[in-house]
Amino acid sequence: MTRPAPLARMVAAQAQRARDGLLRRLRTVGAVDGSRIVVDGRPLLDFASNDYLGLAQHPALREAMTRAVSKWGVGAGAAHLLGGHRDEHAALEEKLARWTGRERALLFSTGYMANLGVVAALLGEGDICVQDKLNHASLIDATRLAGCELVRYPHADADGATRQLRSRPNRAAMLATDAVFSMDGDLAPLAVLSRLCKKEGALLMVDDAHGIGVLGADGAGSLAQAGLGDDDAPILMATLGKALGTFGAFVAGTAALIDGLVQFARSHVYTTAMPPALAAAARVAVAIARTDDERRKRLHDNIARFRAGAAQRGIGLLPSVTAIQPVPVGDNARASTLAQRLHDAGFFVPAIRPPSVPANAARLRVSLSAAHGEDDIERLLDALGAALAAERG
Ligand SMILES: *Cc1c(COP(=O)(O)O)cnc(C)c1O
Repeated sequence: MTRPAPLARMVAAQAQRARDGLLRRLRTVGAVDGSRIVVDGRPLLDFASNDYLGLAQHPALREAMTRAVSKWGVGAGAAHLLGGHRDEHAALEEKLARWTGRERALLFSTGYMANLGVVAALLGEGDICVQDKLNHASLIDATRLAGCELVRYPHADADGATRQLRSRPNRAAMLATDAVFSMDGDLAPLAVLSRLCKKEGALLMVDDAHGIGVLGADGAGSLAQAGLGDDDAPILMATLGKALGTFGAFVAGTAALIDGLVQFARSHVYTTAMPPALAAAARVAVAIARTDDERRKRLHDNIARFRAGAAQRGIGLLPSVTAIQPVPVGDNARASTLAQRLHDAGFFVPAIRPPSVPANAARLRVSLSAAHGEDDIERLLDALGAALAAERG
C-alpha cells in the first residue's frame, strides 16, 4: 500500500518545526488580575493580551453577565435562525450598528468565523479576493472556503493592489484588508483603498479587530477615524474579544448586506448562537468603550510613554500608533532568547516567529493596555534595554 498516512505526516512536520526551533508552546495561565498573570506557576506582567481597554475583568461586565445568566442560563441552545437569537443579541446588534454608524449589524461567534462567512457568502469560483500580504490568517483561509482566487499585494501598497485589480478587469472582486495589522500595529491606507475600490468596482472589506474601541471618535474604529461610511467601505468586520474584553464578532453594513449574510453566511447559519449572557456583557463593554474617553486616553498615554522611552534607550520600534508595538529582531533564535530573558525578569512578551510573520522578520510583540500603569511601562522598558544589552555582551 502506498497511501500516505496523514497523522505520521503531521508528526514529521512537527518534528521538523522542533528542529527549526519554531515549535509553539501552550502555556497555562493559572490566575489573572488585570495585567498581572500567573503562567505555569510564575507571576508575570502581561504584555501579550489584546484586552486593550482593560475591560475583560470590569465589574460592570461581570455584573451584566451574571444578571443575564440568571435570566437565560448559560447556552443559547440553538443557531440564530432556529430560536437561538435572543433579545440580548438583537439589542447588541442595534448598539453595534449605531456605534459604527451603519444601518445594521450581525453577530458571529468569532472573528475567524465572521471572515470565513462573509467572503464565502459573496465570492465563489472565478472571482478574486485581493488582499494585503500581511492580512490575518482568517481572511486568507476564507478565500479557500469561498473557492475564489486569492491575489495578494505587497504590504500597504495601494499601487500594487491597483495592478492586481486592473490585470483582472472582468472578474467580480473583493479587496479585503486588516485595518490595523495584527503583528505590525500599523494602519492600512483605508482612504486610498476606498477610492481605488470605487474606481475599479471592487467591494471593500475591512477587518478592524485591533482598531475597534481603540481608534476614532468614541472608539468607533479605523473607518470612523478615516471618515469612511457605508458607501466608502461597505463591509466592516470587528471583534468583541479584543478591546471589548468579551468574545465574538460582528459585521456591520447596509440592510442589504446583513440580510444577505443571514441567508448565505454559512458560519452564521450553521452554528450555535453566542451565549446570551456574553451578548449582555458585550453591550456594557460597548457602552464603556464608547463613552469612557479617560480609559482610552490611558491606553494612548501608555503607547506614547512606551515609544518615547524606547527612543530614549535606543530601542528600535516599528512605526505604530496602536496598542501593538513590535520590537523588530529578525532572527528566530534571537527573538526566543530575548523573550526568555524578559520572562526571567518577570514579563510576558511573546516572540512572534514564522509562519505568523515572514521569514527573517521575527519580533517581540508588545501589547499595551489601559490596565498597565506608568510604572509597568517603565519597568518593561528597563528590562527590554537590559535584555538587548545582555545580547551585545
Ligand atoms: C484576532 C483577529 C481575528 C479573529 O478574531 P477572533 O474573534 O479571535 O476569532 C480576525 N482578524 C484579525 C485581524 C484579528 O487580529
